[in-house]
Amino acid sequence: MKPANSIFSGLGTTIFTVMSQLAQEHGAINLGQGFPEGLEPEDVIAAAAHALSTGPHQYPPMMGLPELRQAIAAHDRRFHGLEVDWATEVMVTSGATEALADCLFGLIEPGDEVVLIEPLYDSYLPIVRRAGGIPKLVRLEPPHWDLPRQALTEAFSDKTKLIIVNSPMNPCAKVFTEEELSFIADLVIRHDAYVVSDEVYEHLVYDGHPHVSMMGLPGMRDRVARIGSAGKTFSITNWKVGYIVAAPALLGPISKTHQFITFTTPTPLQAAVAAGLAKEDAYFSGLARDMAARRNRLAAGLKGVGFDVMTCAGTYFLTTDFRPLGFTGNDEAFCRHITIEAGVTAVPVSAFYQGTGPNHFARFCFAKMDDALDGAVERLAEHFGQK
Ligand code: PMP
Ligand code: GLN
Repeated sequence: MKPANSIFSGLGTTIFTVMSQLAQEHGAINLGQGFPEGLEPEDVIAAAAHALSTGPHQYPPMMGLPELRQAIAAHDRRFHGLEVDWATEVMVTSGATEALADCLFGLIEPGDEVVLIEPLYDSYLPIVRRAGGIPKLVRLEPPHWDLPRQALTEAFSDKTKLIIVNSPMNPCAKVFTEEELSFIADLVIRHDAYVVSDEVYEHLVYDGHPHVSMMGLPGMRDRVARIGSAGKTFSITNWKVGYIVAAPALLGPISKTHQFITFTTPTPLQAAVAAGLAKEDAYFSGLARDMAARRNRLAAGLKGVGFDVMTCAGTYFLTTDFRPLGFTGNDEAFCRHITIEAGVTAVPVSAFYQGTGPNHFARFCFAKMDDALDGAVERLAEHFGQK
């Protein structure tokens, strides 16, 4: 039998699926895979149910429902001060995952260099490689996750086609400052490159940290493809509704990819997300407030157990150093150990690095109900002898 594609056949199963399966097998409280609990807005769900029962049930426009594209443009004006033409600069996708693949397949020419910042979300690298891109990896390190400016400058060359920037950043919960993003923008402009800006956690920022969209920085309007996800903004991760905002010259080739990957996204869900994006400001600020309270609850609990808990300015993840607990194995061993022995699941941070990276950090998702957060802390406290 002839071998299948070597890039994909050489990959393991994503760490999120692996850890969720392990959690299920062992009846563990799953703080591994990032998905929220109990925050789904009822009116958005009712809008989807209504749209499903009234139809239509046939293909929507390839670029997305006009009402959703208009809502995305209005959202980007309201929250990011961006002027976006909904008819030529917005495309709806089946989740940010599809949006990322569309951007990478649509923009990368084999041999192009692509700058990536570790720790990185797991879909980036395989798609960059499959698109023929040559990855240039730059590394942020715990506990401060500072931008390595020299390394970043050296990673750019005249062959650089694009950089992927993820802010707020999974898993390290860093929110890039305007100054850091301007530094990156300067390199992008100097090398005539693009930015695929993964902003799925745009509304999950805390403690007054502003979310800055790279698209709004001077000289960047036409160089950025901005990606959002209704899964994160409305706590509905199985709907898989995402979007891309980009200037027509960029969105053109990106949409050619979309037309052959999914072509469209379920109409009732698009209609409901349009209603969601029109919600009052209080919904968006309330989401961040609820999430920050959950962060504080889990952070305090994990500190009490003995973890060293890193700062979290955005996303719904806490990165923790488990060495103070006396565990001497690596992060994979730790995450398996607490799943099986303590009944709590986390994700090893080394899964977000290539080769040898930091290997004594575990990521916990705090977007859960208080019962789950408290139960997890109690189980860990008991296991590590704090009770
Ligand atoms: N990018 C990042 C950084 C993420 O954490 C996620 C969430 N899984 C995605 C993209 C994918 O989002 P979606 O579920 O909308 O495909
Ligand atoms: N983004 C989520 C996380 O980081 C999970 C997404 C997935 O399972 N593919 O946990």
